[in-house]
Parts: sequence; structure tokens; C-alpha cells
Amino acid sequence: MKNPFKGIPSIRMIEDEPLADHTSFHIGGKARFFVCVYTKKALIRVLQRIDKNRLPYFVLGAGTNILVADSGFPGVVLKLGGIFKRISWRGVLARCGGGVMIRDFLEDSKEKGYGGGEFLAGIPGTIGGAVKGNAGAFGCSIADMAIRVSVVGGDGKEHILSRSDLGFTYRSSNIKNGCTVIAADLVMILDTRTSIQKRIDENLKKRMERHPAGYSAGSFFKNPPGHAAGKLIEMCGLKGIAVGDAVVSEKHGNYIINRGRAKAADVIALADRIKRAVFKKTGIQLEEEVRLLG
Ligand SMILES: Cc1cc2nc3c(=O)[nH]c(=O)nc-3n(C[C@H](O)[C@H](O)[C@H](O)COP(=O)(O)OP(=O)(O)OC[C@H]3O[C@@H](n4cnc5c(N)ncnc54)[C@H](O)[C@@H]3O)c2cc1C
Repeated sequence: MKNPFKGIPSIRMIEDEPLADHTSFHIGGKARFFVCVYTKKALIRVLQRIDKNRLPYFVLGAGTNILVADSGFPGVVLKLGGIFKRISWRGVLARCGGGVMIRDFLEDSKEKGYGGGEFLAGIPGTIGGAVKGNAGAFGCSIADMAIRVSVVGGDGKEHILSRSDLGFTYRSSNIKNGCTVIAADLVMILDTRTSIQKRIDENLKKRMERHPAGYSAGSFFKNPPGHAAGKLIEMCGLKGIAVGDAVVSEKHGNYIINRGRAKAADVIALADRIKRAVFKKTGIQLEEEVRLLG
């Protein structure tokens, strides 16, 4: 297929882009079209062309919660840049673009003396990805801060979603696949830079102690109600088991690590093995937190 996005300004389109380079797992095949959009108008025009050409598409954040198939993705991967990386402030209310990295948001809010988001420190994704999956840690989640979210649907129309529309639950929201989170209004609280930094440092320290380094997508499975997935996996003696270069971390049972050359097929086979073993021993069915693309 010829370039379906010809003539659209404020985008960058790459054909057959390796997606492994765009994910924290460092796994996966190519995207047929990888399109970085820099303005709202460009996003809408890209979505219109996608619709016209009946192409499948996927909205990518920082790729820290996805596993891309070895065969890649035969459609369009959309990535937000340009204006979607901006943050503006009205008192304690931050209007944060969907493509803003969490760490940049935390740095900016700390500099301005606004706290409340420190629990997000160390989560390596974007604000858009965090809102879609209700990212969180230490008993808090972005649902505690998000009061309004702007999305653009597959039809190219913008919608403003209120808290009740967003329907946040554990690692989930009502935002449909194919909707692009272009901005989120996040409520913060006034604080001093020193105490904000102190809490960020404490949280980063706790994460360093508990979480393994290496290529991963963070916690692979959701915690089933009343249980920690990592503990269940550990209890079943599964730490350290491997398929190819995909291995269950010795440090944290809910982390699958790519030792370097793991294929998506290895990760999927390992995840299946974990799910079967945990179900056999405990009767609990683990559910993936990581999303599969392709
Ligand atoms: C080392 C490590 C530690 C982690 N720790 C945590 C943790 O403590 N808590 C936690 O919750 N998560 C954690 N994660 C997982 C991950 O960082 C979060 O889920 C994060 O919110 C995903 O954001 P992302 O931008 O990378 O999204 P991606 O992985 O790119 O995408 C994830 C999903 O969000 C969608 N999405 C992304 N951007 C948008 C957008 N703008 N509009 C609409 N949909 C979008 C995608 O389509 C996909 O369905 C960790 C991951 C790693 C690698």
C-alpha cells in the first residue's frame, strides 16, 4: 500500500518501523506505518485517512505496558508528540498532554510546588497510557487526580470525559481501545519542593528494593482480588523459570524479564505456563496486565 498519509502536515511517518525499539520489553516485529502526530488537527486528519483506508491502528504511549507480537502490527501505530507533550497550569490544576512522560510531569509539578503525584515516581510511561490503564502504586492511582480527560475517538471527534465517564477501576478505565487521550486535567496539592522531592526519593528507593532492573513491561499480571500476583507465582516455585530468553525474575515473581533475545512467543509461552501452574495450585486465574499488540 502507498503512503496513506501523504500531504498531511505536522506528522512524521515511518514505514516498517521496528517496534522493539519503542517498548520497554525490547521485543516485537515491525509496524507497517508508524506515525508521530504533532497537532490535534494532524491527529484528526490521520484518523480520517485510517478510517478511509480501513486500517487497523493502535495508540502507543511509551510502550512500557505492551508486548508486541513477533510478526509485528500490520496497521498504523500512532504516537503523540508536539503539542501533546505540553503541560499548562491553572493554580493546582495541571492540563497535561497525553504524550507527556510521567517523569517530566512530576519534575514540572515539583518545580512549581504542586504535590500529590509522587506515587507515580518510577512509572516509566506517559500520562495518556497512565490514564487509559489507571496506573498507580503504593495504594494510589491516577484516578485520584484525574478530573477530566479529553479524548479523540476513531471518528476524529473530540470528547470531554468527566470522572463518572472515565469509570476508573483497578488498572482499567472506560476509555475504549482506539480512543486517543490527548489531555488530562490533574488536580494537585500545594506543597514545598523539598517535601515533594523527599517523597519521590522514598518511593524510588522502595521501587529499587522491590523491583528488578532489565527489559520488562513491569508487573505482567494484575493482582487478583485479595492477592499479590508476585507472591502467588513465588509460592508456586516459578521464580527463575524460563522459556528461551524470557525469565521470571528472581527478585519479583510478577516480572517477566527479557534477558536480551526473548521473542514475544517465549513470553507468551512462559505466561501460559505461569497461569496454568498458579491455577492448578491455587484455583486462581491470573489475568494479564500487559497488553498484547499484533
Ligand atoms: C519497570 C516498570 C515498572 C512499572 N511500574 C508500574 C507501576 O508501578 N504501576 C503501574 O500502574 N504500571 C507500571 N508499569 C507499567 C506501565 O509503565 C504503565 O502501565 C504505564 O501507565 C503505561 O504507559 P505507556 O505510555 O507506556 O503506555 P503503553 O504501554 O504505550 O500502552 C499501554 C496501553 O495504553 C494505551 N495508550 C497509551 N497511550 C495512550 C493515549 N495517549 N491514549 C489512549 N490510549 C493510550 C495503549 O493503546 C495501550 O492499550 C511499569 C512498567 C515498567 C516497565
